[in-house]
Amino acid sequence: MTDTAAVATWLADFAALVHENANLLTDLDRQIGDADHGSNMERGMTAVAALDPGQYPEPAALLKAAGMTLVSTVGGASGPLFGTFFLRLATAATGPDMSPAEFAAGLEAGLAGVVARGKASEGDKTMIDSLAPAVRACQEAIAGGDSLADALHKAAEAAAAGRDATVPLIARKGRASYLGERSRGVQDPGATSVALLIESAARTLH
Ligand code: ADP
Ligand code: MG
Repeated sequence: MTDTAAVATWLADFAALVHENANLLTDLDRQIGDADHGSNMERGMTAVAALDPGQYPEPAALLKAAGMTLVSTVGGASGPLFGTFFLRLATAATGPDMSPAEFAAGLEAGLAGVVARGKASEGDKTMIDSLAPAVRACQEAIAGGDSLADALHKAAEAAAAGRDATVPLIARKGRASYLGERSRGVQDPGATSVALLIESAARTLH
């Protein structure tokens, strides 16, 4: 059941995971960016976790508030991109309980929003490299009759594989692209935080 309480649990769990991994995210961004991805994500998700779920009777409203909070509190590229993801995910939610099919469609809409906003494709060494395979895995699993929990576990595995596959890539979007060849050999920070987002969804949503 993906109601407001479940979404709130997911967001709080992701905020905690971002907090635990903030140094890793910043360290990756230090190597191929400007060393702020951990603090950007932590600032944004701390504000999201402080939202009062009681004020949002339906998941769509809480997801929308989360998206707007990220857009307004995070200065870096990742704020508008993660914010857009949640705003688009919200558009797939109807009523007090998102169905597994709605959730999978919402992930797909979220991915489309991030692509529209950032203009990156798979292989450009960005968050798309973990988000796109995760969305595909989730959609396939739901279409095949899996529960949301099973589908999200498959999505989390796909996201982790996509994150790992960013290591040898040359960045073609965002700050890391300024490094050209020198961006090779480092895992993309945003792909790392997206893998945390999906891992968190897999352990909190059923
Ligand atoms: P900034 O680059 O502004 O310092 P962050 O450090 O918070 O912002 O986020 C960097 C991450 O944002 C990158 O690791 C990458 O995954 C993601 N990113 C940057 N530009 C794009 C883009 N155009 N499309 C998708 N993701 C992007
Ligand atoms: Mg940065």
